[in-house]
Amino acid sequence: MKAIVFQEINKVALADVPRPTMQSPDDAIIKVTLTSICGTDIHMIHGAAPMMPGDVLGHEFVGVIEELGSNVDGFKVGDRVAVACTVQCGKCEMCLKGILPKCVRSGVFGCGPLLGNLAGAQADFVRVPFAQIAMHKIPAGLTDAQALFVGDILSTGYFAVTNGKLAPGDAVAVFGAGPVGLCATACARLFSPSKVIVVDPIPHRLEIARKLGATHTIDPTKTDAVNEIKELTGGAPTSLLEEFSNRSGADVAIEAVGIKPTFDACFQAVKPGGNVSIVGVFEEPQELLMSQLCVKNIGITMGLVNVIHMARLLRIIEAGLLDMTPLITHTMPLAEAVRGYEMFDKKLDNVIKIALKP
Ligand SMILES: [Zn+2]
Ligand SMILES: [Zn+2]
Repeated sequence: MKAIVFQEINKVALADVPRPTMQSPDDAIIKVTLTSICGTDIHMIHGAAPMMPGDVLGHEFVGVIEELGSNVDGFKVGDRVAVACTVQCGKCEMCLKGILPKCVRSGVFGCGPLLGNLAGAQADFVRVPFAQIAMHKIPAGLTDAQALFVGDILSTGYFAVTNGKLAPGDAVAVFGAGPVGLCATACARLFSPSKVIVVDPIPHRLEIARKLGATHTIDPTKTDAVNEIKELTGGAPTSLLEEFSNRSGADVAIEAVGIKPTFDACFQAVKPGGNVSIVGVFEEPQELLMSQLCVKNIGITMGLVNVIHMARLLRIIEAGLLDMTPLITHTMPLAEAVRGYEMFDKKLDNVIKIALKP
């Protein structure tokens, strides 16, 4: 079968690889009908974690059940399913506590030997271990494109919002309008916020943010984003003394980039008593100004995506309350994915997400 494989740092290729086979009665083999390139794939090919030459990439996908293990209940061959990007057993202490990404048998498709050594989904077929937990039936009325992000970036965006404890009437600031920031923007709308303020330097991304429900967008290269957020939420302080008594800011600040400027801005833009929710992937250590944050009573949450809300997200999409298809700026055959990787890595042609058809 055809698959996109890691060759060496910064190099991927289309290759012929053996078709996966069942290894356990807990497995399913999925015929992939739509997959995508994710920011994590780019981190992997840049060398974020070791990959072996020939490892199949990709972890965001939907497909049809081709083979099904005898331990998997409630599914049949031919069912259309959305699949989680992470693998979890559903039986260990972490799984039973609902902390799926820390399952003792956890892994991520297509992310190399340190993350479960699982072949990825940028392929004609993929083996899904512990399929009972990973798979969710796609409602009949939904297209593959509507369900594509449920197992990865949409779960991450939803996780960012719920981790931040966003409540009705709150103002939320989302730093970063990449795929995850845009998913967080759309998910924030589900909680009836008073303001959804999105910060990003790329105009095209801000335009999509507005389509997905941003009430205000800020280009940080043109204006001081923190000051602007304070202006929108009660007024920015005009003196150092006022700074201390000022109570404006976002109730929830979401970091969806993973770099110092947005990290720092989240803590400056959040209101006293508010929450900073971090889903950006950081390559460098960051510093917290504890003396300032402690007196502001700031809550901080972070973590790897927890895919526990996939069924809920599919219901929300089915009800017409969430539509992430505007993120798909490009669709191409899997065979052209090498070009897609270059386009996605270099952010060419206003790309947000590339859907790949095996
Ligand atoms: Zn991903
Ligand atoms: Zn587990």
